[in-house]
Amino acid sequence: MSSSSLRGPDGRLDLSLALAPYIRAELAELTEASKCRTGCPTPGAHQSWGECARAANLSTMVGDSVQINQQGERDLAAYREARRQGMQPQAIGRKFTEATKKAVGA
Ligand SMILES: [Zn+2]
Repeated sequence: MSSSSLRGPDGRLDLSLALAPYIRAELAELTEASKCRTGCPTPGAHQSWGECARAANLSTMVGDSVQINQQGERDLAAYREARRQGMQPQAIGRKFTEATKKAVGA
């Protein structure tokens, strides 16, 4: 093997090129994994594992709570509307409100 085949794209000696391809692939995966979590939607976009985890946690928490809030607001509004019309759903929640409305033919 000539030494020129051990040079990377930037022309510097890269000894990892002397490794078998499957070992190189594994190494690349490990390097990637040390920064980003498995399942990160943008692998390599984060500077550290912690940053990756924080980004994921934040977006998950914000996304979930916004969705739950919107759902809760809609359920509450439907419940209030049903009460205003003189109905008494068993509980707050779309399925209860809708069951009550159906029962009275509203
Ligand atoms: Zn990441």
